[in-house]
Amino acid sequence: MAYKRVLLKLSGEMFAGKYESGIDPELVTWFAKEVKKAADNGTEIVIMVGGGNFVRGAQIAGHGIRRVTGDHMGMLATMINALAVTDIFEANNVKTRCLSNIFADQVAEKFVYRLANKHLEKGRVVIAAGGIGRPYLTTDTAAVSLALEMDCEIVLKATKVDGVYDKDPNKHDDAKRYETLDFQHAVENPHIKVMDKAAMGLAMEQGMKLVIFNPMEEGAIANLVAGDSIGTTIS
Ligand code: UDP
Repeated sequence: MAYKRVLLKLSGEMFAGKYESGIDPELVTWFAKEVKKAADNGTEIVIMVGGGNFVRGAQIAGHGIRRVTGDHMGMLATMINALAVTDIFEANNVKTRCLSNIFADQVAEKFVYRLANKHLEKGRVVIAAGGIGRPYLTTDTAAVSLALEMDCEIVLKATKVDGVYDKDPNKHDDAKRYETLDFQHAVENPHIKVMDKAAMGLAMEQGMKLVIFNPMEEGAIANLVAGDSIGTTIS
């Protein structure tokens, strides 16, 4: 059965593509086309964008930069991505609105529940910039929080691997991919690093289903929102 509303989490790493940092417009164009297929089928889509291709708060803090400032820098990095994603999506005929949890009136509207809801009901993709606007969080946790706020039925987390494995598939030939996994196992297993533990904890507590999948497989997003089982489902 197709989902009515989903949250898609795209990390900064995804936007960098062939580059080490920054934004690869070709890759964002790919995402625009993939998201369009899913949106054209009638599913409402909220996208939480990461910022790790520019700055991660925990990594940049130190040498005089406070952690809170580092996190502010990280949230600004997500805004840079969100602006690029919004333009590239629109250039590819995806109706898109960027709403920001860091208030910067010149560049994006404020993220307000009712406004976001209205855009979604009108079939526009909503890009959330600035995480949820508070420090000491990642965009994974922000993604689960926003999915709950916006009544999304599932969080689709795009990663470079096609799901969760029992050990690192790049290092072990016999690594096995889980089709389904329960939260308890995902939270307790230190080898499972596809999503941060705070995000997983919140999802577990609130019963928000997660899917870890590779968005570079053509049609993956559209097939997922149509209800196909792809990647690893954590529930
Ligand atoms: N961040 C934050 N609050 C939020 C979301 C993000 O403080 O609600 C900061 C945090 O420093 C994080 C950075 O923004 O490291 C960029 O996000 P993230 O590391 O999640 O990006 P990704 O790894 O998904 O590219």
